[in-house]
Amino acid sequence: MKAFIKEFKEFISRGSVLDMAVGIIIGGAFTSIVKSLVDDIINPLLGLFGGMNFDLLTISLGKDVVLYYGRFLTAVINFLIMALIVFAIIKVINRFTARWKNQEIPKKETKICPYCQSEIHIDARKCPHCTSAIQ
Ligand SMILES: [Zn+2]
Repeated sequence: MKAFIKEFKEFISRGSVLDMAVGIIIGGAFTSIVKSLVDDIINPLLGLFGGMNFDLLTISLGKDVVLYYGRFLTAVINFLIMALIVFAIIKVINRFTARWKNQEIPKKETKICPYCQSEIHIDARKCPHCTSAIQ
């Protein structure tokens, strides 16, 4: 039990728990936004064209068994939209991360001439300042 508590303390103090909590809270808010997008905007638009609402699509099996496959379709559409948005967000984040990394490690393109201490091109064989040959 002591080891368990110690491990739990380490797990919490690593900081990933906070990240996870933030992720869950944002994810929850995000889910309701996507649900609203589908329920309040996409479904009414579909209703405009086909005169139907996905949620109203049902198959009746006998008198008490009804399959609400329209609701399932709505859930699938919700998921696809969410996946698309998450993909777009990750793409943007990756682009910024790559740019940041490129700035972090500037490519070395110059060196110092050992004879006159001037900054010269990394591939220079002859110094443009003192004309010394550089091996
Ligand atoms: Zn030089």
